[in-house]
Amino acid sequence: MTVVVTGSAGFIGRALTATLLAAGRTVIGVDRVPQPPRPGLTVLTADLLDDDELVRAALEAADAVYHLAGCPGVRDDSPGIAWRRHRDNVLAGARVLAAVPRRVPVVVASSSSVYGGARHGRPSAETDRLRPLGGYARSKARLEALCAGRQATIVRPFTVAGEGQRADMALAVWLEAALAGRPLRVLGSLERTRDVTDVRQAARALVDLMGTRGVVNLGTGRGHSLRSMAAAVAAVTGTEVRLAVEAAPRAEPGDSLADTRRLRSLIGWTPETDLLDVVRRQHAASGVLAGAA
Ligand code: NAD
Repeated sequence: MTVVVTGSAGFIGRALTATLLAAGRTVIGVDRVPQPPRPGLTVLTADLLDDDELVRAALEAADAVYHLAGCPGVRDDSPGIAWRRHRDNVLAGARVLAAVPRRVPVVVASSSSVYGGARHGRPSAETDRLRPLGGYARSKARLEALCAGRQATIVRPFTVAGEGQRADMALAVWLEAALAGRPLRVLGSLERTRDVTDVRQAARALVDLMGTRGVVNLGTGRGHSLRSMAAAVAAVTGTEVRLAVEAAPRAEPGDSLADTRRLRSLIGWTPETDLLDVVRRQHAASGVLAGAA
């Protein structure tokens, strides 16, 4: 069975690829960022919009496809971001879906940001009306619409954390700030909450979701306050962190919390996050990466 993973050089893509390889799958990883091949992993370094012949052939012949490639980041407001989101989240998604035969199962990474946050502390359910607050969330809602009428599983991950987390995400930014003796920037309030999923469990859940159909949240159903996340960073780094609370941008959901009932019904289990362990692993891995650089 050959599985194609787009975005295989990214944070979640690397963890998913490792989990698939450990389960004995043959994987073709597609990413415009190079990554080393490994036993069982064929790497295709190309942009999904380049119409690369090998990428097209891999997508046409795959037994299953994970489409994780995209332009992440709710808060990104760098120049050209609207175009990059459209290009990498919508156009690249359309290209992948057009190339994969309709009978082949596809798992597509959307985002919990399409909910615009949990309302009144109630977990967001897949049947909720979408309320995308910013350009990132809107591009993911468009990606979801492209999947209509085919055998696709649209996954809405909540915050994923652990080794290799993207450098722009809160825990990664905070770990770096704590080690440099800078204050941790907190957007909005310390009482805001995030549903945080351990990247290893996110990868396992993605593996188990292959072959299902429809929309599903990927989260734990438990919120961690920004205060507790900052405390975990302080404990792991052994530093006394200072906090700088600033106004949150409009696109930033207040709280995020997954209704996990559908996920459990599909895969038979629900991810659970040991925040301290996840932050410890993330910290250890960033040390290794920094040391290797
Ligand atoms: P990431 O940025 O680490 O990985 C995405 C990868 O996709 C990168 O390696 C990038 O090079 C590649 N890519 C992007 N556009 C491409 C293109 N046109 N052609 C080829 N490669 C391309 O992001 P991540 O955190 O691993 O997230 C993976 C997916 O999950 C993304 O679609 C993201 O929007 C979604 N998501 C992530 C989180 C999270 O907490 N990390 C939460 C919700 C949704």
